[in-house]
Amino acid sequence: TQRFIWPMAQFGQIINMYQRAYASAARIFGLMDEPSRIRETPDATDLAVDDGRVEYDGVTFGYDEGETIVDDVSFTVEGGETLALVGPTGAGKSTVLKLLLRMYDVDEGAIRIDGQDLRDVSLRSLRRHIGYVSQDTFLFYGTVRENIAYGTFEADDEAVVAAARAAEAHDFVRNLPDGYDTMVGERGVKLSGGQRQRISIARAILKDPEILILDEATSDVDTETEMLIQRSLDRLTADRTTFAIAHRLSTIRDAEGIVVLEDGRVVERGTHEDLLAADGLYAHLWGVQAGEIDELPQEFIERAAR
Ligand code: ADP
Repeated sequence: TQRFIWPMAQFGQIINMYQRAYASAARIFGLMDEPSRIRETPDATDLAVDDGRVEYDGVTFGYDEGETIVDDVSFTVEGGETLALVGPTGAGKSTVLKLLLRMYDVDEGAIRIDGQDLRDVSLRSLRRHIGYVSQDTFLFYGTVRENIAYGTFEADDEAVVAAARAAEAHDFVRNLPDGYDTMVGERGVKLSGGQRQRISIARAILKDPEILILDEATSDVDTETEMLIQRSLDRLTADRTTFAIAHRLSTIRDAEGIVVLEDGRVVERGTHEDLLAADGLYAHLWGVQAGEIDELPQEFIERAAR
């Protein structure tokens, strides 16, 4: 496994270097932190999820009037499949996913889940069916148990522990001073990025949504932790429609689809093999990572900087 895990980190680093280098205008934010400006229609129905098929149909969006951040984006993710979003910082990856949570309404086009336009369903029902995992997940000042159960009302202790086990969090939680009763969050015991991420995975496993948004970690974790996180993510994403802002090689390579975004537009799309064959941005990021080329050709850097 050593040899498998090492390049995963490397590819993430290459993407991160590329992203950071051209990140001047970009903002870092937590997807769930932004207040929703959305009003639901009085006759909103509850979202009914069957397969979990998600369709972006000519989606265009800007935060401010006259601004285009997402530009005519179309793709379909079949139920249970994983779509990896790749592209430089500021390309619009997070914005695409904020639209799925309906934190904003599209300006043009539509997003549909199993045929239902997001604008026709209640926000509560929409968000009940979508889980969100990131390393930056907010831990509130409370016990580990409460933090895992957050958002799931009927969670009993057994379910919390089962979720923690599936998330590979049980062992480190048991070793905390008070186990599941240890206070974390502000003023509590500090958890590492890898530990916070597994709490976030446990939370998502407990919530059990059909659709998942995965904002992959970019920070360094050791090989052992990397392996645990990967294993728990595999469990979590199996049979769920997953949108991943992807840094891990394994996520990207196993994804049924990869969408490469640049400046709000889909510039490449396909499987890992398709995109290598296409010899575009994605293939060149790979080339750098594999040591086949020294640096990204100037044309891509200029495109990203525009
Ligand atoms: P990525 O996730 O690919 O890094 P984002 O979707 O975060 O890209 O950002 C796309 C563009 O939208 C960037 O130019 C960014 O500055 C802008 N942006 C992101 N969030 C907001 C916001 N809340 N208000 C205004 N502009 C935003």
